[in-house]
Amino acid sequence: MPYRDKRQQKEYLKKYRQKNKGKLKEYQKMRYLRDKIKINQLCKEYRKNNPQKVKDFHKRGQKKYRNKYPEKIKAQRLSKQIRIPFAKLCVDCNDNFAEHKHHEDYSKPLEIVYLCAKCHRERHS
Ligand SMILES: [Zn+2]
Ligand SMILES: [Zn+2]
Repeated sequence: MPYRDKRQQKEYLKKYRQKNKGKLKEYQKMRYLRDKIKINQLCKEYRKNNPQKVKDFHKRGQKKYRNKYPEKIKAQRLSKQIRIPFAKLCVDCNDNFAEHKHHEDYSKPLEIVYLCAKCHRERHS
């Protein structure tokens, strides 16, 4: 035990945890960026190889979607102008970076909840 004093030891542990928390966040950010690049590349390739398929898919999807959730579409269109703040943490888990914008109420398009992908899935399940 490097510290005789319990208070000192506690202080040390606190500092240690804080230091590593920063590292963890940094790591998450790196991983997030790396995955994003990878996914973007895969999407790009797919689009390049299947342009017609992608076009059809979007057309079909949009039409169906629009008929089903007009409020949602409106909310999403309005909230598109709002960007997720840089390095914003998910409000649910406060652990991952927020990647998604979620609406509690589609009739209030500007009330946005910032969530990570996982928590967003959970909110809708
Ligand atoms: Zn989360
Ligand atoms: Zn949502």
